[in-house]
Amino acid sequence: MNLRPLLDAVLDFVYPHIYCVCCGRLLEKKAVHGLCSNCCESMPFVHEPKCSLCGRPMETVQELCRDCKLYGHDYNKALSAFEYSITVRELIHRYKYYGEYSLSRTFAFFMSELLEKSGWEIDYIIPVPLHKNRLKSRGFNQAALLGDYISYRHKIPCLDNILVRTVDTKSQTGFNREKRALNLMNAFMVVRPDAVKGRNILLIDDVYTTGATVDSCSRELHKSGAENVYVLTFAIAVLT
Ligand SMILES: [Zn+2]
Ligand SMILES: [Zn+2]
Repeated sequence: MNLRPLLDAVLDFVYPHIYCVCCGRLLEKKAVHGLCSNCCESMPFVHEPKCSLCGRPMETVQELCRDCKLYGHDYNKALSAFEYSITVRELIHRYKYYGEYSLSRTFAFFMSELLEKSGWEIDYIIPVPLHKNRLKSRGFNQAALLGDYISYRHKIPCLDNILVRTVDTKSQTGFNREKRALNLMNAFMVVRPDAVKGRNILLIDDVYTTGATVDSCSRELHKSGAENVYVLTFAIAVLT
């Protein structure tokens, strides 16, 4: 039995955010997402117009962004809550590298809001897996914690034993599109194809850069017969 969602719900109740997770100011009123009204207002929410495939914000109204027109994707649709700004990057670093696990509640809250509006029909949530070596060194999978919270809020099962990362890929930071795709070629494997066949899957990750990671996962899920693969991330890099 997975106790994390339950633990999180109890934590929400016993230790609601008292200070803003971003600026540290005392919260004037209870805010489930943990941001004060100033910080919440200045967060770079992804607004329209955005790409109808990858969900990236665009300057003009078009169906697809430059990236999607050129390369396409292996998933069906993706959405992100925020643009990957300096503030957002700092929050993600505090979460991933400095052990501020409670930030997962803030991130997943906004992702949940987006999922609610998406109209997507989801059977299972699958967090993007880490390789076992990476999991050992980091101590937790940042995507799995987000998946658990979203699972808890939407009453959709979160399965973290379906998709595994078989190759301990190097960090993607600083890689261009081709190198990212090459780095991730055959890096994932579906270990229980029966569980995804004919199902609508929601892949969860923290950051979307070129989409190489979620494309690689989606390819494997589709090969195993998944009906639709949707992608939900906390932040998306803006094309330069
Ligand atoms: Zn604040
Ligand atoms: Zn796009």
